[in-house]
Amino acid sequence: MTASLIDGRKISKKIRVGIKSRVSRLREQKIRPGLGVILVASDPASCSYVSAKERACRRLGIFSETARLSASVSQSDLLNRIDVWNQSDKIHGILIQLPLPSHINQDAVIQAILPDKDVDGFHPINVGKTLIGDETGFAPCTPSGVCELLIRGGYDPSGKHTVIVGRSNIVGKPLAALLIQKKSGANATVTVCHSATKNMASYTRQADILIAAAGRAEFITGDMIKPGAVVIDVGTNHIEDPSCEKGYRLTGDVHFDSAAKVAAAITPSPGGVGPMTITMLMHNTVRSAEEFYRKLCAT
Ligand code: NAP
Repeated sequence: MTASLIDGRKISKKIRVGIKSRVSRLREQKIRPGLGVILVASDPASCSYVSAKERACRRLGIFSETARLSASVSQSDLLNRIDVWNQSDKIHGILIQLPLPSHINQDAVIQAILPDKDVDGFHPINVGKTLIGDETGFAPCTPSGVCELLIRGGYDPSGKHTVIVGRSNIVGKPLAALLIQKKSGANATVTVCHSATKNMASYTRQADILIAAAGRAEFITGDMIKPGAVVIDVGTNHIEDPSCEKGYRLTGDVHFDSAAKVAAAITPSPGGVGPMTITMLMHNTVRSAEEFYRKLCAT
C-alpha cells in the first residue's frame, strides 16, 4: 500500500480563503482583527514560529503586534503587557510564545489573559470548555488543526479507534477532549499513550487513526501501524543533517517512508499539522474580533 497524502498546506489555503473574506467583512465595519504576540528571549525555533504567525496575519489583513522581550524580563512587566492588551480594542487575540524562561510562572501568565482573548485556548476556562464541549470557548490551535485535517481530508473520526501518542496539555490532552465529544466530526474512541505506556506498539497497531505527538524524531515506524490506518504526524523535530545547508532538517515523529507503505493516508511533517495550527490561530483571532463587533452592536 502507498498512502495518500493529507496535505496541510493545501487544506490550510482553502480555510484561509474563508478567513480572508471574514476579515474583509469586519474591515467594512471598521473593525480590523488584531493579534498580540509575546515573544520572550530569542530561541531560533520560537522566532521562526512567531515570524510565520506574523506573515499569516499580514496576508490575511489581520493587524499584528509582537512584543519581543528580553530573557530577563520580569514577571510583572510581562503581566503589564498582557493587561494593556486585555484592555485594548485593537487586540482581539493574545498569544504567549512558549516556553517562557524558568523565572516566569507560565501558569500565572496564561491565566492573566482574558479568556475572551485567549486565542491559543490555554486559559483554564477555555481548557474546561474544550473538555465539556462548550463551543463558546477557544480550543487550542494544534488539536483543532488535527481535527480539521481529519474532517476535511475525508477521514471522519466517528466510531474510529484513535490512538494519540503524547499527553501534553498543548496537544495530547486537548486533542483527546475534542475527539471524544458526542458530535459530528468527533465521536471517536480514544486511547492516549505516554512515556509510562507499556508495549506501546500493541496500542498503535490497533489504531484506525494514529496521531503522533511525542516529540521523538521518526519513532513511529511502519511496523507499529495497522495496515490501512490514517496517520497524523504532529511532531516537529530538528535533527542534525550535514547534507542540509542549515546543518539540520525538520522531521516528524513518524518514520515517513516505512509508515507510508502501510497507512492508507498520512500527513507529511513539515507540511501537515504545522500550517493548520497557524490557520486555526487566525480563525480564532477573527472569531474573537467578530464577537467583539457583535457585542459592540449590542451596546
Ligand atoms: P511534550 O510537551 O514534550 O509532550 C510529549 C508527550 O509525549 C508527553 O506526554 C510524553 O509522555 C510523551 N512521550 C515522549 N516520549 C515518549 C515515548 N517514547 N513513548 C510514549 N510517549 C512519549 O511535547 P508537545 O508540546 O506535546 O509536542 C509534541 C510534538 O509536537 C513535538 O515534536 C512538538 O514540536 C510538536 N508540535 C507541533 C506543533 C505544530 O504546530 N506542528 C504544535 C505543537 C507541538 P509523558 O507525559 O509521560 O512525559
